[in-house]
Amino acid sequence: MSKAIALKIIAENKEKAERQKNGPVADFAIGFHNIAVHLELEPVHETLTLAALRAGGLTDIPPNMNYYAATPGLWEFFRGVTWNDDPQCALFKDSREYNDELSSGTVWFSQFEAAKHNEASRSKTGYLLGRSHFGDLQFLHSMSSSVGEPAVETRDKVLLWCELMYRTVTGEFPEHCQIGGVEISRGGFDLLRFFDRDTDPRPERNLKFLLTRDTEYQKMQIERRALGSLFHIIQDSYAKGHTRRVEDYSSGYVKLGAIRTFHCYTGQDEEQHSHYDSFKVEDVQISNLDSFNPYPGARSAIEACVRVMELWRNGVMWNDKDGKPGAVHVLEDIFKLAPDVTPGDNTI
Ligand SMILES: [Zn+2]
Repeated sequence: MSKAIALKIIAENKEKAERQKNGPVADFAIGFHNIAVHLELEPVHETLTLAALRAGGLTDIPPNMNYYAATPGLWEFFRGVTWNDDPQCALFKDSREYNDELSSGTVWFSQFEAAKHNEASRSKTGYLLGRSHFGDLQFLHSMSSSVGEPAVETRDKVLLWCELMYRTVTGEFPEHCQIGGVEISRGGFDLLRFFDRDTDPRPERNLKFLLTRDTEYQKMQIERRALGSLFHIIQDSYAKGHTRRVEDYSSGYVKLGAIRTFHCYTGQDEEQHSHYDSFKVEDVQISNLDSFNPYPGARSAIEACVRVMELWRNGVMWNDKDGKPGAVHVLEDIFKLAPDVTPGDNTI
């Protein structure tokens, strides 16, 4: 993130907070969402999410709905979608009544800057924000944690997170479940690898703390937050700054297939990264998926999220059950590696 853009974010958060004092909360302009897409001032993740929720069968979303008109119920998904960029929930005020009130952003910004410039702040004992952007949790953005990391390892960590989130969505892992008590592993990675006695949160904290910092919000819906985080990791995996995927132009737009490389944020050109992550929200309509076609990866990201929506709607569990195939196969397919896959790099 460039400093100028980060400062702009803070200024706009302040401006938005000012507006919130004087008007309805639904009157959102811009604010945190620039961060959700790593730097541009467009709520891209949220817009992709709205499109996927609608196409996936969530019926209370009108065709012309956009981010600015989102209801508190939809904000529960957004709070999950933004979590990967704001894992300590520092961009929001915590309140019993509202789930969409922005904070000043200064805590988020200072932690981000600290993590960027100071090894300790992005290390395992540092800030969750630093770890997720520059350290060992970069997989939360479908990125490799270091240059040279084998793609199969990145994928294992990504799928570990997908499993944790999906099983939280389905209620298999309730919100009071301790992080350290979740017995899942993939390719030798488990949650204790990332959350131990020296990290924040520690493993004895529960999933509600992990995803909401124990929010006071009365209508918090853990399954929506978990689905949002799952959508974030999926959507990022179709962004050019995050991965390189097999490209197929036979449908008139670029359909992205198997993953050829997971990129690593450290050492990447920041401006280019943000450039590839963004599109103009007013140029798309959530009920018209073709309107996303000009933006590389956007349509494929929505379609992948719709596949997950269908699993959720049909009550599909993560693992195979009663002869019915589990969601794991769909997620494995979304993160399929190409035969010519290469280790993590910091190109774009
Ligand atoms: Zn991300």
